[in-house]
Amino acid sequence: MTHQDYLRLVEEIHTHNYHYYIACKPKISDREFDRLLKRLEEIEKEHPEWITPNSPTQRVGEIPHKEFSQATHSIPMLSIANTYSKTEIEEFVARIHKLLERKDVAFCAELKMDGTAISVRYEKGEYKRALTRGDGRKGDDITLNLKTIPSLPLRLQGKNIPDLLEVRGEVYMPHATFHQLNQEKRLAGEELWANPRNAAAGSLKLLDPREVAKRGLSLVFYGIAADTPHVQTQHDVHDFLGHVGFPSFQKGHRAICRSVEEIMAFAEKIQLQRAKLPFDIDGIVVKVDELRFHDILGATNKSPRWLIAYKYAAEQALTQIKDISVQVGRTGVLTPVAELEPVLLAGSTIARATLHNQEEIEKKDIRIGDYVFIEKGGDVIPKVVAVDISQRPAKTHPWKMPKKCPSCGSPVVSCEGEVAVRCKNSWECPQQKMRRIQFFASKDAMDIDHLGEKIVEQLVVKGFVNGYADLYKLTAEDLAQLEGFKEKSIYKLLTSIDRSRHTSLYRLILGLGIKHVGETTAELLAEQAGDLEHLQHISKEQCLEIGGIGDIMADAIVDYFSATESRKEIQALLAAGVKPEAPKRKKIQGHPFAGKTFVLTGALTNYSRTVAANLIKERGGKVTSSVSKTTDYLVVGEDPGSKLVKAQNWGVEILDEKTFTSLL
Ligand SMILES: [Zn+2]
Repeated sequence: MTHQDYLRLVEEIHTHNYHYYIACKPKISDREFDRLLKRLEEIEKEHPEWITPNSPTQRVGEIPHKEFSQATHSIPMLSIANTYSKTEIEEFVARIHKLLERKDVAFCAELKMDGTAISVRYEKGEYKRALTRGDGRKGDDITLNLKTIPSLPLRLQGKNIPDLLEVRGEVYMPHATFHQLNQEKRLAGEELWANPRNAAAGSLKLLDPREVAKRGLSLVFYGIAADTPHVQTQHDVHDFLGHVGFPSFQKGHRAICRSVEEIMAFAEKIQLQRAKLPFDIDGIVVKVDELRFHDILGATNKSPRWLIAYKYAAEQALTQIKDISVQVGRTGVLTPVAELEPVLLAGSTIARATLHNQEEIEKKDIRIGDYVFIEKGGDVIPKVVAVDISQRPAKTHPWKMPKKCPSCGSPVVSCEGEVAVRCKNSWECPQQKMRRIQFFASKDAMDIDHLGEKIVEQLVVKGFVNGYADLYKLTAEDLAQLEGFKEKSIYKLLTSIDRSRHTSLYRLILGLGIKHVGETTAELLAEQAGDLEHLQHISKEQCLEIGGIGDIMADAIVDYFSATESRKEIQALLAAGVKPEAPKRKKIQGHPFAGKTFVLTGALTNYSRTVAANLIKERGGKVTSSVSKTTDYLVVGEDPGSKLVKAQNWGVEILDEKTFTSLL
């Protein structure tokens, strides 16, 4: 293996990355790709001096930032003038005609992404630096964070690449990722993101690139900051970006328009597609197509004259706030909610809208009695956009968050680093109790049917249910006292409660509502602990051993299980006959692998690493990551790395895949 071979392999992987993410025509299978990557890793272990920051293995940095440094944009990132009206588009076109003294001007109309703008620099085709827009002159250096996005090219493809290339584009979070991550946040009792734009911007500002890598961000590029040979129009810009390896707009998402009518037709066409796009847009951008005109047109002190954004108005409705109530969530967070005069919006009747928190209410100066504009946000929860001050009734007062919990009366506290205020009386507060039980019974957790909000409320108010375990002590006589409960509904509810006794362990863990613990973490915990008994005594070290659980989460888990109340609750559940099934890990007794320590290296043909490791564990063996004196077997696949040499030095027994399979 020479340095030349290494560089060739790096190049090969960059090219495959391009075929996969940009051309969407992978030339090799995912497995083969992983194998190449693994090979690269192994070489880099032997020759750390060869590793460059743009090696395909270096996407996710290990070192969190302390803070972001700032840098100046070589060409300022000006903002775009925008409008909601066709008249202003007509004025824009007329202005261009006048300034250029000609009428045959082509425009390039394209999607207006609703993400967060970035500027990225390449030197000699190599990824060098990424900045956020910031104030337009200076932005935050997000070089390491941006690199974690798999579709970002680390090295550009093809020829005709200028020595210095600065491109402009946008980072966004696709809808699917947004909903999935928000769902995990909901299950983990964390504050939800209001929309994909906030989620993307917030993710880019995380200090730890490893966390950014988990956010599933995407990218699209649509601009070049300086003149580039062979690129004469905005359409060329899109083509050029696509050719050299950037994710760029596909053909249907941009169009050449020669008149206001054509621009408006494109805007309407895109508006119809909007709901089906996998990401958020908020309109279209119209740019003079020929780049040489851009210099002639120049910019005002705010924005360039050669482009304008035409934005789609969100559907809004005007209604009055009759009252502001305060909800207490299952983790004690107090959320103000606007009780509205019911109004029709985008096909449904809206009677309530979240006001998020005190800060939000102050910022918009929302008062009881106000007429407000409401809008459906990215996540279907209606929100209050603005107050119509002209209609404000006399004698209104600024709204203040109560100092005491509306449910239990204990003083509310604000938590460090959070806008939210909480009721800390978590075990006694009736509303928290209700929400917790509701969550415990929910589809994703214990999946107890026929136990809706109203029923839980009655059960708690009547004192039948105080903790989770009380659900299992409910009798037909108890339920007969609930409003509208007849024989049939009593039977149905009791049956579904009984059925939930035999659920899977992870569902029960999720149902306990431990802070930060969503479905994925619950599954990991179940896998690690095996049963409730072990789970209760899990240590921070054990939590951290599980991949995917960090410091904060580990603390929350240990805190939860060391609290007396949680222990009582779990004991009560066990006493009530709740017997969650341990994750299905077959145990094979008396296998020769029992008690032996294995290390895996190289790619196996018939098993992934995880599968191979599980097969060993099922047979009582242990899998570690590095070879040492205590290693019994090294399982060797194709292209083994330095581990093989080490194992031979230690005299560790080597198993090839065939022998490994026969021993299994
Ligand atoms: Zn309370």
